[in-house]
Amino acid sequence: MNNKDKKEAPKGINNFSKFSLVYIVLGILMFYMYQYYFTTQKTTISYSQFKKLISQNRIKKCKLSDKYIKGVYIDKNNKKKEFITISVNDPNLVKDLEKHNISFSGTITNTWLTNLIFGWILPFGFLFFLWWMMTKKMRGASGSLFGLGKSKFKVYLNEKPDVKFTDVAGAEEAKQEIEEVVEYLKDPQKYQRLGGRAPKGVLLVGAPGTGKTLLAKATAGEAGTPFISISGSEFVEMFVGVGASRVRDLFNEAKKLSPCIVFIDEIDAIGKSRAMNSLSSNDEREQTLNQLLAEMDGFDSSVGVIIMAATNRPEVLDPALLRPGRFDRQIIVDKPDVNGREAIIRVHIKKIKIGDDINIKTLAQMTPGLVGADLANIVNEAALLAARENKDAVHMEHFEEAIERQLAGLKKKNRVITGDEKKRVAYHESGHAIIAHLLPGADPVHKISIVPRGLSALGYTQQLPTDEKYLITKEDMMDKVTVLFGGRAAEEIVFNTISTGAQNDLMRATDIVRAIVTQFGMDDKLGLVVLEKPGATKFLTSEGIIKDKDEISEKTKELIDEEISKIMQVSYKKAKDILLQNRDKLETLANKLLELEIINEEELKEIMEGGDDG
Ligand code: ADP
Ligand code: ZN
Repeated sequence: MNNKDKKEAPKGINNFSKFSLVYIVLGILMFYMYQYYFTTQKTTISYSQFKKLISQNRIKKCKLSDKYIKGVYIDKNNKKKEFITISVNDPNLVKDLEKHNISFSGTITNTWLTNLIFGWILPFGFLFFLWWMMTKKMRGASGSLFGLGKSKFKVYLNEKPDVKFTDVAGAEEAKQEIEEVVEYLKDPQKYQRLGGRAPKGVLLVGAPGTGKTLLAKATAGEAGTPFISISGSEFVEMFVGVGASRVRDLFNEAKKLSPCIVFIDEIDAIGKSRAMNSLSSNDEREQTLNQLLAEMDGFDSSVGVIIMAATNRPEVLDPALLRPGRFDRQIIVDKPDVNGREAIIRVHIKKIKIGDDINIKTLAQMTPGLVGADLANIVNEAALLAARENKDAVHMEHFEEAIERQLAGLKKKNRVITGDEKKRVAYHESGHAIIAHLLPGADPVHKISIVPRGLSALGYTQQLPTDEKYLITKEDMMDKVTVLFGGRAAEEIVFNTISTGAQNDLMRATDIVRAIVTQFGMDDKLGLVVLEKPGATKFLTSEGIIKDKDEISEKTKELIDEEISKIMQVSYKKAKDILLQNRDKLETLANKLLELEIINEEELKEIMEGGDDG
């Protein structure tokens, strides 16, 4: 999330907290006034003391009632003080008072009526009032929507978003995929007549600040339709039952406004897999999720409502959300590479006045791993710095300072990798890619990237299988293992040390080798034996007899481990040998990767086929 999102938080929520705060403060004040009025610390004196005060002429005035006598007396320091004493059946009292010229009056207190009013009706009335205020707000939260300033959703009604696709830089693939949604929204019926399978839900997947909200807004902008937005966390609020009814209201409103786009940010707040936290079941969220699913199924696609949702953790989403007719389209909004960053900076830099010394390419190179929101911040910050210095244009030095500040801020949040790490990742991924390119059994490389994705994966080499293979030979499997070792081998060759980055590779390699040995009967020593069935605790022997795990002899187990480690060593040596033979290619590729951050299939081929030794 970024600052801008926070600013756009629906007004209703803020109003609510301000509103209730005022009432709570008022309530406390009233309570204390009530308390004060009825129990103010008056000096309690005994009746005999009271009589003494009368005889000493120190009573100024008093009020008599059947239960108390209240009044004012002069204390030893000649100060007026209020007193209270209990009323006693004293026939001489009035005479005494008259004798000392004390003005007195009588009141009747604590009748059943005053008791009722002050003891019961007022406190309870007050409690009721508080409760009413709270529930009124709550009803407001789910009931009357779109009342000015009260609306829970941010609606761009009259001001249809004037954001266009040209404002979203770099995300070309995503924009292409979303073009269909625009076509549909422009004329839902026509789109259906022409036989298009109308879209309903689009899930935008990407790290915070990559422009998912912007893209959704631009989709509405391109189609010229209203844009309703709400954040997933706003559904699941403090009051039970609000979430589901908010979903209902949201969809009712959307249908009224159609064609339109409903945008749900942070959908994981409601869409978390139900299976994942069966222990701490959250009824409220589950109800909300169920309502969302029901609403999405409930309207047919000629209505012209598109639900777009954003998340950066698609893996935690409930699978039910991703089924056909729901969020069945998923669009990845990746972190931008160096060219993407350049384009984004270009979009934002238009809004400020820059000097001749600005080199946008350089700026893009200086900001690896940053996303659109970061870059927008940097441009803004640079402009502020220049303004503070009273410059009439923003210069490179301002950008440098702004970038430094942004990076320092992100480093605290662990989101930036250092130059050294980046270099290591570049060699690591190049190692995978070169071996994958050279070995026939490995899937061809589609894309190599060192743009960090979240905290765990610093880079990745994406391989796509050419066609579905049902029969995989042992050689194919060995090649895959060798590719997995490529990263670690490259690190060892170049840096002489190995980082923790290879851990996941190692685990995957072990899994494959274990399968070669125990499941597929491909090992020379153990021979044609199926020792394990995937996911089963039973073992299948060569005679086709299923054995329990314990029935496999210790010796066989040892042999399995031995064979696994032997195959792993052979593969690792092979990976290292291949890379040593292609040391120059490794250099070229890693350096190219450091420069471009993302390399595709074509570019890899060029590098591998070019060069001196062929
Ligand atoms: P997300 O929803 O993915 O967290 P946002 O859409 O809220 O990210 O992005 C925040 C801001 O960052 C946008 O308003 C925009 O100023 C800037 N931004 C992000 N991505 C891009 C992009 N691809 N092109 C231009 N600006 C972008
Ligand atoms: Zn790796």
